[in-house]
Amino acid sequence: MPDPGPGEVLIDVQACGVCHTDLHYREGAINDDFPFLLGHEAAGLVEEVGEGVTNVAPGDFVILNWRAVCGDCRSCRRGRPWYCFATHNATRKMTLDGQALSPALGIGAFAEKTLVAAGQATRVDPAARPEAAGLVGCGVMAGLGAAMNTGAVGRGDSVAVFGCGGVGNAAIEGSRLAGAHTIIAVDIDARKLEMATEFGATHTIDSSQVDPVKAIRALTDGNGVDVAIEAIGLPVTYEQAFYSRDLAGTVVLVGVPNPAMKIELPMIEVFGRGGSLKSSWYGDCLPSRDFPMLIDLYLQGRLDLDRFVSETIALEDVEEAFAKMERGEVLRSVVVL
Ligand SMILES: [Zn+2]
Ligand SMILES: [Zn+2]
Repeated sequence: MPDPGPGEVLIDVQACGVCHTDLHYREGAINDDFPFLLGHEAAGLVEEVGEGVTNVAPGDFVILNWRAVCGDCRSCRRGRPWYCFATHNATRKMTLDGQALSPALGIGAFAEKTLVAAGQATRVDPAARPEAAGLVGCGVMAGLGAAMNTGAVGRGDSVAVFGCGGVGNAAIEGSRLAGAHTIIAVDIDARKLEMATEFGATHTIDSSQVDPVKAIRALTDGNGVDVAIEAIGLPVTYEQAFYSRDLAGTVVLVGVPNPAMKIELPMIEVFGRGGSLKSSWYGDCLPSRDFPMLIDLYLQGRLDLDRFVSETIALEDVEEAFAKMERGEVLRSVVVL
């Protein structure tokens, strides 16, 4: 573990969620920079700060993020730092037996300590449980932000969410927080639909049994929803989202497709339905703005982060957690250090 360089901070990791993206790294689906140090949904304490770090100090309780904004790129300069096109990570390398490690998403928190750029650490209220707080650093933020930031769900809106894993359920919770009156959960797994109801879905649709587009129209006076959120990343569910929204509605893609996937839509429908087709990067969040706010909502009992924590595990249980995740048995297993 190198000493933190200028603009870097050393984190004493307290908890880190097990996310699908870690599995994708392990399987070589992201890049070939083995060996990886996995883990990227983490909370912990700042142990040491490098030269010039002013946003955090030793002892601060922080949530880590994987998009430290630069403040200087063409997007930041236009006042849209949540889209920052030049995010950065720590440059000093952590090593194992002398070999440099590639930290997943520039974090690498399946370890007792990790080194990140100062902008990757956001101070939040230390009253929050680390195992719940850390989840805000990735999947939960992606889902909440898909509804609250990208989709701009507001009071009285109707929303449909396709895919009720961690990200989809967070989108349901975000829609509820934002004031949506109808929240329709769509999945092919009855267990996930049951969870979606606990997170605030007002209706559920098992799309292995019925046509979700027709079912959504039936629940919305034949009109479709104001915001349709796709949290899977598949052409078939994207098209369902596209056709299940109302005129001038919004489609938000937060599920991550693979590079081979294609969608085909009649262009007249893209034009004629109006509205917007948007993609959500990390929930279009600005960690320094959103993380403290979400933790405050959590501590007030208005945002149920604990419900995402299916189990807490030890570091050596990560492989088993991957298997449970693939079988759909858990929303999140969280490593506690
Ligand atoms: Zn993740
Ligand atoms: Zn920037």
